[in-house]
Amino acid sequence: MTTIGLIGGMSWESTAVYYRLLNEGVRARQGGLHSADVLLHSLDFSPVAEMQARGDWDAAGDVLADSALRLERAGANCLVLCTNTMHKLADRITGATRVPFLHLADVTAKAVRQTASRRPLLLATRFTMEQRFYLGRLAAFGVEAVVPEEGEREEVHRIIYEELCRGRIKPASKARYLAIIAKAAAQGADGVILGCTEIGLLISQADSALPVFDTTALHVEAALDFALAAESQAA
Ligand code: GLU
Repeated sequence: MTTIGLIGGMSWESTAVYYRLLNEGVRARQGGLHSADVLLHSLDFSPVAEMQARGDWDAAGDVLADSALRLERAGANCLVLCTNTMHKLADRITGATRVPFLHLADVTAKAVRQTASRRPLLLATRFTMEQRFYLGRLAAFGVEAVVPEEGEREEVHRIIYEELCRGRIKPASKARYLAIIAKAAAQGADGVILGCTEIGLLISQADSALPVFDTTALHVEAALDFALAAESQAA
């Protein structure tokens, strides 16, 4: 079996979705009692979020590198980092391990490229919306994502950390996100990237006329494609 290694817990609310979708995906593809072969290292998010907030990315990188190495040693055949934001430190993982790393921005960009969307709105943490590690990676695939204005970014970020990562799903926050999406659509955005793995808890394709790219669901599909292709090669 191909073992999928998950670096999770950031937050566990979305890691739980990864786990469920991986298993549902294997059931859909293979049927019967088949389920996903998964190794999960679920981190305590509190100290990691503190490192993010104080900009101590070096320490956060140490945490991720250590987690990745532990999963590799335990037998993971690929690594899936269950958060967009921490892809800022993807190099720390790929530098510490040898197994394939399924980069979430690449997975997302490829999914966008399969549609007519080229200027999607990116909803994510401030780190992901304001720094180049994610936007630049999308741009390398020809996807020129746009982000909300300053005050809206602040709100999107706050709702992620104060609500979604704590399991709080509020209709008022959903309405706020939908208003930000509607405004971006009026300004020319032609898709919506849910660029934080918790946003799928709040928004889905049913909420928007624009194509919605849910990074959690896309990452899971990419992991399953990888695992099942590796298995058929081994057979
Ligand atoms: N899960 C989120 C993401 O996809 C935010 C939490 C974090 O900072 O890791 O970016």
